Amino acid sequence: MNQDANTRSQRAVRQLLESWQRSGVTYLKQFEPVAQNSASPTPLVEPPQHLPVQADTIPTPEPSKEQQPQTNEMTEEPIRESDQARKEISVPRTTKSKLNKGDRQAELDIIASQVSKCTRCPELAETRTQTVFGVGNPRAKIMFIGEAPGADEDKQGEPFVGRAGKLLDKIIEACQMKRSDIYIANILRCRPPGNRNPTDLEASNCRGYLDAQIEIVDPDYIVCWGSVAAKNLLHSDLPIGKMRGDFYEYGRAKVVCTYHPSYLLRNPSAKKNVWEDMIYLFADMGIDLKAQD
Ligand code: URA
Repeated sequence: MNQDANTRSQRAVRQLLESWQRSGVTYLKQFEPVAQNSASPTPLVEPPQHLPVQADTIPTPEPSKEQQPQTNEMTEEPIRESDQARKEISVPRTTKSKLNKGDRQAELDIIASQVSKCTRCPELAETRTQTVFGVGNPRAKIMFIGEAPGADEDKQGEPFVGRAGKLLDKIIEACQMKRSDIYIANILRCRPPGNRNPTDLEASNCRGYLDAQIEIVDPDYIVCWGSVAAKNLLHSDLPIGKMRGDFYEYGRAKVVCTYHPSYLLRNPSAKKNVWEDMIYLFADMGIDLKAQD
């Protein structure tokens, strides 16, 4: 690309990013002019800044005065590290996104490309075949959040394509919807070896990506499939059975928690509970699923 074309294309990208920022997208880095002839221009979009990283990958500098452990103003107790990590999690949006479908997809593509190079969790980065970002309608009213990719998802690069995914497809169909109506993501974007549960550190390393997806898609409803999704999204320690049957808030979205499709494969009698949860969610949207039985 010649110098003029380069400058024109940089200007076009800058205008697009600025228009997204005006539309209420909050996690994009404010555009900083790139010095002409700069050998390594500032990236236009940086990975989420607030994410904790694997502890052994960062040097530990002497804390400066301002970096001394913070204390709780009320109790004067030092704030625990886990509470600080929790405070760093970005605040979900409370206003409706004005972005059109194409712009949302373009933004998701930018984050997906960052995710594909992510090495925040060294073990997962080494063992994955590929990252599994998310799939579906970038303007979906409903977003599904699962746990983490399994072997099939790791091979195919798409969430919920294995046995649990086939059951999820049946649930979607029973709700008179298509998979492409929904946006589907997971707490993790890499497969944990042996399908073990995600660690807290892995979940928090991946959290900025999930929050970016939620912010861009801006769903009215989120379904947390299983306790890993519910616990991590809502920071709750309640068992999933106790979280069912209520709406929780995550920014603008109403959140429903229900059993994971893998649990249903092992415990088919719980399918009726999941169906009740779908009836509950759709009733809130003004759709009577019972009438469509
Ligand atoms: N289980 C999940 O939680 N997510 C997937 O993508 C597949 C199986």
